Amino acid sequence: MLSIDMEYILHIANKLLSVPSPSGYTDNVMKIIEEELKSFNVKFQYTKKHALIGFINGKDNTYKKMISAHVDTIGAVVEKIKDNGRLKLSNIGRLNWSSLEGENLKVITNDNKEYDGTLIPTKASVHIYPIKDIETPRSSENMEVRLDEDVKTKKETEDLGITPGDFVFFDTRTKLTKTGYLKSRYLDAKLCVAQLLGYIKFLSDNKILPNTDLYIYFSNYEEIGHGISFFPNGLNEFISLDVGLANNGTSGDEKKVSICAKDSRTVYDYNLKKRLIASAEENEINYTVDIYNKYGSDASVAISQGHDFVCGCIGPAIDASHHYERTHLDGVAETIKLLLAYL
Ligand SMILES: [Zn+2]
Repeated sequence: MLSIDMEYILHIANKLLSVPSPSGYTDNVMKIIEEELKSFNVKFQYTKKHALIGFINGKDNTYKKMISAHVDTIGAVVEKIKDNGRLKLSNIGRLNWSSLEGENLKVITNDNKEYDGTLIPTKASVHIYPIKDIETPRSSENMEVRLDEDVKTKKETEDLGITPGDFVFFDTRTKLTKTGYLKSRYLDAKLCVAQLLGYIKFLSDNKILPNTDLYIYFSNYEEIGHGISFFPNGLNEFISLDVGLANNGTSGDEKKVSICAKDSRTVYDYNLKKRLIASAEENEINYTVDIYNKYGSDASVAISQGHDFVCGCIGPAIDASHHYERTHLDGVAETIKLLLAYL
């Protein structure tokens, strides 16, 4: 029985999570993927907007599948430097501001200087402000970056070289528990990228071909809605490997793979969904089928642009998406098993 190299998947997931990649700042993380693809002898090319597409010949060359996982994450940039020398931020993607309260971060300037800081509410101290001010819902308006530099004025912060548009990288607090739970910011979708690389490694280690020709798209603008911009000729089907949702009233489970039937943009292809379910059933893979009402994927965006192929969406179910996320290694493995079974 061939086994999935979970050690590699965790290693590469950690490596990807340690390199910040908010949408618009993904070149460094793409380099890691490029190196992995080279080591597996997978042909690849960059798109003009710096996404990576790998290609693997399959047993059947008459049917073409594409699978994507996005390397970009939600995040923030500096919007302006305030008179008190602190920074107001602007969100990248659907940020939950309260999830970042008290989080340490780095600001990177155009000349690659990095500065430490923390995102805190403008009224943080209980010894100074009344409780009604302290409990105000969090937004970009009432949170600011306190830089760990001797700056008290706008001019002093400007003198550090910080300007509007500079990227901000939040600590991911990545942690694997003894019980097999993986916790981190940005499991969405760096974990999926790690799973795709784990899938490719499995093919390479065991000299297995996918069932059909396969394009593997590492997209870099998913979180802001324009992840996929290159479509291979004659593509028959496109699956997004992206996080599923667990708990909180969904049927998703951190120890299972999620198959998405419908998101906020579209119903996914009925027959493709049934083929995914059949693959899971035949191979005794633990799965759930879910509907996500406030969710989109690279595949559902692509299909909404009017392209002629069928689309699907699967992935590891995570708890508290776009917050401090969590999933379980069992679910990570079930997802890769489904990739192996279906692709
Ligand atoms: Zn995602």
